[in-house]
Amino acid sequence: MIRIGVDLGGTKIEAIALDAAGRERLRRRVPSPSDRYEAIVDAIRSLVAEVEATLGERGTVGIGTPGAMSPATGLIKNANSTVLNGRPFAADMAAALGREVRVENDANCFALSEASDGAGAGRRLVLGVILGTGVGGGIVHDGRVWVGPNAIAGEWGHNEMPSRTEPGLPDTRCYCGRRRCIETFVSGPGLAADHRRDAPSGASATLDAAAIATLARAGDPDAVATMARFYERLAAALATVINVLDPDVVVLGGGLSNIEPICDEVLARLPAHVFSDTLATPVVRNRHGDSSGVRGAAWLWPA
Ligand SMILES: [Zn+2]
Repeated sequence: MIRIGVDLGGTKIEAIALDAAGRERLRRRVPSPSDRYEAIVDAIRSLVAEVEATLGERGTVGIGTPGAMSPATGLIKNANSTVLNGRPFAADMAAALGREVRVENDANCFALSEASDGAGAGRRLVLGVILGTGVGGGIVHDGRVWVGPNAIAGEWGHNEMPSRTEPGLPDTRCYCGRRRCIETFVSGPGLAADHRRDAPSGASATLDAAAIATLARAGDPDAVATMARFYERLAAALATVINVLDPDVVVLGGGLSNIEPICDEVLARLPAHVFSDTLATPVVRNRHGDSSGVRGAAWLWPA
């Protein structure tokens, strides 16, 4: 039996086939026809057909998408690939592929991949955290994605950044209409914007998060200060999730998770914010990197 996972991104559609033990059998990638919904459905249909023809086997199909499927209506919402919004994507894919298809938010797929055979393997409650262009996350309990009645479980990025230890927190605005969202501070663009606000020189205006982290490692004082604020805010914000969920592990993903000292820096700062005299929560980097989304989509069908 094979599991086929499909990751629907803004620029590409990737498919993977895993065997029963989770080993990769095959991987295919095509450009995403992101402008037309019907073309997306058809591109996925032919990608799955190609994988199955190549392997000579039929598989289960799980798909990771931007946005979320509303449990109430079955329609996609909140997707940045806006042609998906308001569409019965799972039903349309089931009709196209002639079988039931599971569809899940890409952050949830990330968490499921890491919980199944990644950095969170063997842990009962896994919090997967995405720190990238946006800030999101997913929760996996006993190997299953925890979705919730609003399909927002794990979406901590649009809570308000705690300001108890930072009364002068900048009054940022988020695209969602709220102010001081966590995402506006600990996403890649949020980190870069914070550096621009605080570092006086014009040269800093074009630096992205990775460049600022590199400068900090080299001892640049403005970059060191920016990264210290970033780690402190990330720890304060994560603590609000840990206080509610008390996960067995926190797995970091997204581009900012590649910043070398991020896990140690956050772990060093968490105890000051978590409501516990000791902190037994591991904070670890993901194992599967860019493949977590497509692998997690495959794992949407458990054994
Ligand atoms: Zn927001």
